[in-house]
Amino acid sequence: MLRNAVGEHFMPEYHPQSDLAPRDIVARAVLSEMRRDQRGYVELDFSSIPLERFLSRFPGIVAELRRQGFDIYRERVPVAPAAHYAMGGIGTDGRCRTDLPGLLAVGECSCLGIHGANRLASNSMLEGLVFGLRAASIAPALPRLSYEQLGVAAELAPPPVRCAPTALRAELQSIMQTCAGMEREEKSLREALDRVRAWVAQIATLPTSSREEAEAANMVTVANLVLTAALARTESRGAHFRSDFPEAYNAWRRHIALRADASGAATAKLVPVENPLG
Ligand SMILES: Cc1cc2nc3c(=O)[nH]c(=O)nc-3n(C[C@H](O)[C@H](O)[C@H](O)COP(=O)(O)OP(=O)(O)OC[C@H]3O[C@@H](n4cnc5c(N)ncnc54)[C@H](O)[C@@H]3O)c2cc1C
Repeated sequence: MLRNAVGEHFMPEYHPQSDLAPRDIVARAVLSEMRRDQRGYVELDFSSIPLERFLSRFPGIVAELRRQGFDIYRERVPVAPAAHYAMGGIGTDGRCRTDLPGLLAVGECSCLGIHGANRLASNSMLEGLVFGLRAASIAPALPRLSYEQLGVAAELAPPPVRCAPTALRAELQSIMQTCAGMEREEKSLREALDRVRAWVAQIATLPTSSREEAEAANMVTVANLVLTAALARTESRGAHFRSDFPEAYNAWRRHIALRADASGAATAKLVPVENPLG
């Protein structure tokens, strides 16, 4: 169970399911306790779990914690929320096909409709196993088209960034964590979007010279899309929590489809949510 700086088991104050509440609720509760305690972490207390059960179910976690110097039955382990998945991604037709003939998208890079506004444990396993199989079964029949035949050579080449990739990456991570993290609101989302769009504008036609530059440019693209969607969605739903719009609205039971033009500007369209397994 999670405990704050004075050792209180705080989750029952936030949700009837206590530590087993949905993960966005737990994450925001942790953030709130961290702010109140002015500490960068809360503590995970393993003492109520039988040792054999934990060892047999989570041997990897126990081994890693030992490697880090923690004895989980003598001490609590400091923990803090972290970004560990993206929701949404490249649009597909439910059979992994994208708008580009011959290009399939599967896994975390794709939007397959498996997870909702939050991810549940094993959503990504379903994405990988079920849709991986679907993709593999249709892949042999796909047309083998060159970039020239598709007419998309310029768009597919990773755009370069006229900026040191390491510095850009660190600043981008900090901006996204602060402005598009567990709590979002219009003012900081707009500020972040202005900064990121300045980078989008810097993305020039020079050839990319390194993997780091290509990755940094792709991160700018993804950040632009995440911020645009977060600003457009004037409600709170799952992991998207807007402190200026804290409720969920039925009218927003929609996906946001974003399409970027050559300048990097993204236009948004609302699309109905469909059952991808149907
Ligand atoms: C701590 C943690 C907890 C998580 N919990 C959950 C959860 O509860 N539920 C959930 O749904 N998701 C969860 N996730 C997210 C989930 O793990 C990922 O969504 C999933 O692993 C992504 O799988 P993937 O195969 O799409 O991508 P990856 O696992 O990232 O695989 C991509 C592969 O492509 C390779 N690659 C990259 N670039 C190239 C290239 N240029 N050429 C060739 N190969 C390349 C990489 O080396 C890698 O092997 C969690 C993630 C973390 C870190």
